[in-house]
Amino acid sequence: MSTVRRRRLQNSSSVPPEDCIFCRIVGRKAASYPVYEDEHYIAFLDIAPFARGHTLVCPKKHGETIWDMNEMETAELFRVASKVSKAVVNAVDADGFRFVQNNGEAANQVVAHVHVHVIPVKMEDKGRFTGRKSFTPSEMESTARTIREGLSSLSRSDK
Ligand code: AMP
Ligand code: ZN
Repeated sequence: MSTVRRRRLQNSSSVPPEDCIFCRIVGRKAASYPVYEDEHYIAFLDIAPFARGHTLVCPKKHGETIWDMNEMETAELFRVASKVSKAVVNAVDADGFRFVQNNGEAANQVVAHVHVHVIPVKMEDKGRFTGRKSFTPSEMESTARTIREGLSSLSRSDK
């Protein structure tokens, strides 16, 4: 990898937080279908989902790639993603799920704010690339509500 490319991957300033769509969602300046929030992390539905329930989990603090986070922050991000995955899978009755986490343009990272994709998968879609789906706002809201409710009951049972 060239020095220029490596520097670009490490540099979190390509998009300033005020222009970052996920920072705007964190700051409630842009709309989203939220499913989870705590002091440092937030999760909301992907607007162009690969499956019903496709969720993005992000740190609230702006940083472009995993390399902008320390190891504890990265561990905590995946702890939250794991918890969210249980509610996502239950909400859409999936049989499995994928974590996808893109870093850098070469990896197809489009939004320059660290995020983990939680993508539920059904057995009938095993091995198939299903493409982006479209859902109505009320379907998106209903999916988000079901995931939120699932997360509340997971917290109650402390899982
Ligand atoms: P990546 O290629 O890993 O950077 O993925 C970025 C994801 O963010 C894509 O799947 C987009 O559909 C999703 N996305 C972009 N803008 C929004 C938004 N305003 N709300 C929710 N998801 C978004
Ligand atoms: Zn940001």
